[in-house]
Amino acid sequence: MLLINYCFLFYYRFKEIHKYRFVFVVMQKLIIANWKANKTLSEVAHWLNNFPSDQESRMQLASLQIVIAPPYPFLGLARQIIDERQLPLQLAVQDLSAFGSGAYTGEVAAFNVQGLGVTYAILGHSERRRLLAESDPLIADKVAEALRSGIKPVLCLDQPNFTSQANYLTSEQMQKLIIAYEPVAAIGSGQAEEPGDLLGVRQELQRTYGHTQLIYGGSVTADNIGGFLKVCDGVLVGGASLDLRDFIDMLYQANSVLAV
Ligand code: PEP
Repeated sequence: MLLINYCFLFYYRFKEIHKYRFVFVVMQKLIIANWKANKTLSEVAHWLNNFPSDQESRMQLASLQIVIAPPYPFLGLARQIIDERQLPLQLAVQDLSAFGSGAYTGEVAAFNVQGLGVTYAILGHSERRRLLAESDPLIADKVAEALRSGIKPVLCLDQPNFTSQANYLTSEQMQKLIIAYEPVAAIGSGQAEEPGDLLGVRQELQRTYGHTQLIYGGSVTADNIGGFLKVCDGVLVGGASLDLRDFIDMLYQANSVLAV
């Protein structure tokens, strides 16, 4: 069952030769680039305008579902360039208001990003829990709001929040989440967790949350991404997603590991 879940058959159209070909690949792994509060408008445009869009690169990235989470002000520009260049990229927001539209100064509601094609919302990141005192109940409200709006929550958790956060979520909500296991000590430190440790984490999360997609975040680089993709469903990448060349190297590395 698990194996079936992890594999799927899809066809890829080679436009130049006008025929369909079937390729068997491991289920696409999720790579989410969290840009945090980095990049200016022109840097975002440069990154996206130089993201490879040729057919060969597309094939090299076919085993990956690549998502970028720019700062809010750049979502519109990102959507425009992704569409114009038909890039194989999806959009995420780095947070989402627990409220709908209305008198909530400074908040960005799911309602506000309608029409931008936002697929995912990163919620409960440890930086927001720590710096903005976001609590488990508030984050649970954000999860509910994302789900109500058709945006898939990527719920960031470290060990201390596994159970406390689950206490505020219904089992139905838990089934619909992607969990990003993000050990705080690994974030931005260059000290990534050992991929092997994720097996125990997955079991623990499965016991608490039931079946969920599990991704890992914390100092992922081109050197260690392969190890993580072998034991979980994807990665959340901060620092190493900022420079396009580094990020592309990482993606090609990930693809080559998945292709064997
Ligand atoms: C993050 O903050 O979510 C993260 C994964 O950052 P980094 O890759 O820089 O450790």
